[in-house]
Amino acid sequence: MNLLTANDRAGTYPPSLYAATRDPSPERPALQGAVRADVCIIGGGYTGLSAALHLARAGRRVVVLEAHRAGFGASGRNGGQIGSGQRLEVDALEKMAGRAAARRLWDMAEDAKALTFALAAEAGVPTHKGIAHAARRPSEVAHAHYMADRLARDYGYDQITPLDAAGLRALIPSPAYIGGDIDHGGGHVHPLNLALGLARMAESAGATIHENTTATALTHGTATTPSRITTQQGEVTADHIILAANGYLDRLEPSVAARVMPINNYIVATEPLGDRAAEVLTQNIAAHDTKFVVNYWRLSDDKRLIFGGGETVTYRFPKDIAAKVRKPMLEVYPTLHDVKITHAWGGTLAITLNRMPCFRRPAPNTLSASGFSGHGVALANLAGRLMAQAITATGDGFDAMAALPMPAFPGGALLRAPMLVAGMSWYALRDRLGI
Ligand SMILES: Cc1cc2nc3c(=O)[nH]c(=O)nc-3n(C[C@H](O)[C@H](O)[C@H](O)COP(=O)(O)OP(=O)(O)OC[C@H]3O[C@@H](n4cnc5c(N)ncnc54)[C@H](O)[C@@H]3O)c2cc1C
Repeated sequence: MNLLTANDRAGTYPPSLYAATRDPSPERPALQGAVRADVCIIGGGYTGLSAALHLARAGRRVVVLEAHRAGFGASGRNGGQIGSGQRLEVDALEKMAGRAAARRLWDMAEDAKALTFALAAEAGVPTHKGIAHAARRPSEVAHAHYMADRLARDYGYDQITPLDAAGLRALIPSPAYIGGDIDHGGGHVHPLNLALGLARMAESAGATIHENTTATALTHGTATTPSRITTQQGEVTADHIILAANGYLDRLEPSVAARVMPINNYIVATEPLGDRAAEVLTQNIAAHDTKFVVNYWRLSDDKRLIFGGGETVTYRFPKDIAAKVRKPMLEVYPTLHDVKITHAWGGTLAITLNRMPCFRRPAPNTLSASGFSGHGVALANLAGRLMAQAITATGDGFDAMAALPMPAFPGGALLRAPMLVAGMSWYALRDRLGI
C-alpha cells in the first residue's frame, strides 16, 4: 500500500486544527524538467527541511522534493511535544551502548531540544515550556521519581520535578493518574507552523523546495558519477541524496524500509473550552501518560484540548477518527463528555525495533534518517543538521547515531506489517487489562 496516498488527498493538508490555523505559506511549483544540485533531499518534514536549511546556510545548492506540501507528513500533524532525551531512557541506552555512548546520546538530545526551540524562535513560532508525565500505577510513579533522580545525579539534568498525587492533580485534574513528574526543559509548539517556518528559512538561505513532487526512483552515484532522482515530471542530478521520507519511504530504499515501520496515530481537537480549560490543564504545559498506546495532550492558544491517542493496526485511517480518540480522551477527562470535537486527523509516523532512530548510509553518497518512534519533533530537526554536517564534513554526529545497533524487522519490509498487528494488539490488550 502506498501510504503517500492511502489516507490523504494529494497536495492537501489533512483536516487538522494545525492546517486550519497555519501561517500563510505559498504553494510551491512542482519540479518540471532536469535540474542539477549539490544535494537533493527527499521529504519536506523537519528532517528534510532542517537538512536543507543547514546545507543552504553552508553554501550548498539544495533541492527539496516534497510529494505533497511542506509539513504534510508527521511534522505537520503531531502532538507538538518537544521532549527531552532519546525515546529510550538512559538506563536502556547504557545497556545497549555503554555509559559513554549513553552520555553522548543524552547530550545530543539536549542539542536537539535547544536547536528546536532556537529554530522556532528564529521562525517566529511561539513555544511554551513544560511537559508533565502522568502515571497510573505506584510502580510507574516510583520509576518516574527514580529517573528524575538518576538524570539529576548522573547526567546533570535538574529540570525534572517529581510529583505526588496532589502535585500532579494540581496540574492535571484527571482522576486517571496518581503521580508522575514535570520536565521544565521540555515544551510544546504548533507543529505545522514550525515546519512552515523551517521551509521559509531554508528558502531564504537559498534552498529550492518543490511541492507536489514525488521522487519515484533513485540511481545511486559513485565516487565519480552523481546520483539521479526521478520524479513524475522531472529529474535531479545531485552529488548527495538525503532520504527524509520517514514513514512513507517504502520501496524507495528497501534496506531502510526493512528497519523502519510505519504506524498510524490519531489526534482530535475540541471546541474552545473557555474557563473549562482549567479542568484539563491548569498551566500552559503539554502532558502524556504511561500507557503503551500513549495518550498525549495540550491546549491550543484558543484553549481547545488537542488530544492524541488510540491506535490502529491497519495502514488505513479509521472512518471515524473522532470516535476512536474520544474514548481515551473521556477516560482521562470524563467531565468533557458534552464537549464537541471539531477536528480529527491521523498521521503516519515510523518506529524501529529498538525505538532508536535509524541513521543509515544506503550508498556512499546517500544518507537517511528516520524512525524517530514518536519522539521526533526535536530529534528530526537534529537529524537534518547532523546529515548536513556529515555532507559538509563538519561533524561526526551522524556516524555516532549510525553506529547504534539497528536490527531489521523480522521478515523485512514485506512482513513487518503482520508482525506489527500482532504486537500492537498485545500491547493494547495489556493497556486495557491494566497489566
Ligand atoms: C499523530 C502523531 C503524533 C506525534 N506526536 C509527537 C510528539 O508529540 N512529539 C514528538 O517528538 N514526536 C511526535 N511524533 C513524531 C514526529 O512527528 C516525527 O518523528 C517527525 O515529524 C518526523 O519528521 P520527518 O521529517 O522525518 O518525517 P515527516 O514529517 O513524515 O516527513 C516526511 C515527508 O516526506 C514526504 N515524502 C515521502 N516520500 C516521498 C517521496 N517519495 N517523494 C517526495 N516526498 C516524499 C512526505 O510527504 C512527508 O511530508 C508524532 C507523529 C504523529 C504522526
